[in-house]
Amino acid sequence: MISENVHRILSELPPGVKLEAAAKERSVAEIEEALGAGIEIIGENYVQEAAGKFKTIGKKAAWHLIGHLQKNKVKAAVEIFDTIETLDSLALATVLDRECKKRNKVMPVLIEVNSAAEPQKSGLRLEEVEGFLEEVSAFTALSPRGLMTLGPWRENPEELRPYFRKVKYLFDKVGRTLGQKGEWKVLSMGMSVSFRVAIEEGANLVRVGTAIFGERKSKY
Ligand SMILES: *Cc1c(COP(=O)(O)O)cnc(C)c1O
Repeated sequence: MISENVHRILSELPPGVKLEAAAKERSVAEIEEALGAGIEIIGENYVQEAAGKFKTIGKKAAWHLIGHLQKNKVKAAVEIFDTIETLDSLALATVLDRECKKRNKVMPVLIEVNSAAEPQKSGLRLEEVEGFLEEVSAFTALSPRGLMTLGPWRENPEELRPYFRKVKYLFDKVGRTLGQKGEWKVLSMGMSVSFRVAIEEGANLVRVGTAIFGERKSKY
């Protein structure tokens, strides 16, 4: 079922849009099946959970962190992840930059945007992102590549469209400011129920769990 799902979703993605398998709670066997069907990016929410799977799967895919990163997990995260999609504070950027420098590594990062300014969610508010990026430019071991957003929870994905649109607008604005400097090119938006709408609004990386692997046991 997993490989059929991956094939079906891949076949409907427009050129230039990448599919990331959001793999929280999924076993190594399930992830391996997805990789066999053409998945090249694994998204994990928790460093510890990813570390266990990484031991077996290794570098067969790119690993992206899509959950909140605690400062005390940065060391382990730097060993596993190829991209941190959830950079959301200067304090985290400071620790991440330091740990990457120790390993002579430059880490691609996405800035997580709290596009509906929900108090319980992590991520920067839209209006904070440009100032934040200026500060992040001092961290030479971090390479900002774009934005990531979850958006508010809505049953009807059409209701997410305005939030995706705002993030895309900001993404383009930053891209124009950076011009040829930097490698600003990733817009990570959309999940199982919303990836089609997100792509229509400009996403080029979609994070899909349920539509690949089936329902999860617990609700996140
Ligand atoms: C779980 C998760 C997804 C995928 O959610 P589905 O609804 O299962 O597709 C995407 N992004 C993040 C940050 C997640 O935690």
